[in-house]
Amino acid sequence: MIEETVHQLVIYAKMHLGLDPEDAIYVENQLLHHFGKQVPFVGKVDETAIQNMAVPDALTEEIVQYDEDVLGYDEAEALRDADWVFGFLSPRPSEVNRLFWEKQKENDRAAMDYLYDLSIHNGYFQKMKVDQNEVWTASFPEGSDLCITINLSKPEKNNKDIAKLLTKVSSDYPKCRLCPTNLGYYGDDKHPARSSIRFVPVTLAGEKWYFQYSPYGYFQQHGICFQSEHIPMHIERKTFERLFDFVDQFPSFFMGSNSDLPIVGGSILDHEHFQGGLPVLPIFQSGNRRLCYSSKQGTHIYEIDFYDTGLKLEGTSRKDVTDWAEKILNAWLPYNDPSCDIIGLEGKVRHNAVTSIARKVGGTYTLYLLLRNNRTNTQYPDGIFHAHPEYFSIKKEGIGLIEAAGLFVLPARLKRQLVEAEEAAKMPGDSYLTIYPDMKDFGALIAALRHGKSAHQYVNEVCRGILQNVAVFKATPAGEEGLDRFLKTVF
Ligand SMILES: [Zn+2]
Repeated sequence: MIEETVHQLVIYAKMHLGLDPEDAIYVENQLLHHFGKQVPFVGKVDETAIQNMAVPDALTEEIVQYDEDVLGYDEAEALRDADWVFGFLSPRPSEVNRLFWEKQKENDRAAMDYLYDLSIHNGYFQKMKVDQNEVWTASFPEGSDLCITINLSKPEKNNKDIAKLLTKVSSDYPKCRLCPTNLGYYGDDKHPARSSIRFVPVTLAGEKWYFQYSPYGYFQQHGICFQSEHIPMHIERKTFERLFDFVDQFPSFFMGSNSDLPIVGGSILDHEHFQGGLPVLPIFQSGNRRLCYSSKQGTHIYEIDFYDTGLKLEGTSRKDVTDWAEKILNAWLPYNDPSCDIIGLEGKVRHNAVTSIARKVGGTYTLYLLLRNNRTNTQYPDGIFHAHPEYFSIKKEGIGLIEAAGLFVLPARLKRQLVEAEEAAKMPGDSYLTIYPDMKDFGALIAALRHGKSAHQYVNEVCRGILQNVAVFKATPAGEEGLDRFLKTVF
């Protein structure tokens, strides 16, 4: 009975979404009308059960069922309607903004927790789905740990789709998934429902940006910062200033920028944005391989002991750290070293880029600069410093900042394929191909299983191998000399 569901929804909103009890009658009448009813439910509902709801999924299911059975909606339309209901029950964006900044004044973490909890309780962030992701730590006898996630909620994209997005003329509304015009957008088959999304404005380098949580959530409190204008990603000095402005206001969080080129960037290049969250990235645990330089103002620049090529700038003078980051960026962008396959510029086409990640711990600013290059050749048409073809069965997508920092997000299909590989390994020869035809790309995994390795151990080594592919200066004497030659152009 939908009237009972509506009554439960109103109680839920009072308990979990900050609905003012003074607004309860108004909200109940409006929702009744929305579902074609006039008279509210009379009777008792189990308030304790509603109080104990960590997520609204049970109520969402009731809405979807009514919409399908009584209103004749298909599932996608019913889910959009449920999203609309929770958007209607949630505080207006201006109220979220007011409360968020009120909390931030006392404690940045309290403000972030408020927005995060709201995003879970109104169903925007689908916690139950994300909690089903497989997550494990990859440990190696030597070198940093990595974190591996099989993400069950995110679609797999390839580099060519992403490159197309960059050149696509956007005329749709909202122009992209990161435009502020998504706020409250009802959605359709082409564009996801955003009735329940809430984001808050933040000022970065004097510009208006917004912060929201990622609907996919690769890690704890995975947030996205995006510019108010739909403009393409572009890394410059201002990028580092914006990142530091963010961590100055929210020191509990890290914030990073993908590079601004396909293959070595993130999946959205046509809207300037950052990603951040609680500091869970493996790169933060990496040690220093060596100290490369110390400035007069006390900024130390280290080569980090990680799998891809990273420099860490650390100091208490934000300006000095930013100055050095800019110097490294400007030296790197046009840099050539053919002996290491690095060509920064081919005519007007740029191949060099950086991935940057900022933190602030105590009064110390840290900026990780990962040196990237997106050149392709006949041997590696998908990218010389990209996952090499022998790893494509595990990961083919571009290596964005989260993965470059050691947290791998692997496609959902692997959940099934890793189990199939275990079965296939027990069968003689390649007889498994008749039962599991898509195991044809998994010969190396099946061989590893037959030699006593576990599927996870194999995946761990693949992920480490991918980061070693991504390294522009390899962890070899020739690679170290290459990095030395580059650093001499900076210091
Ligand atoms: Zn946009």
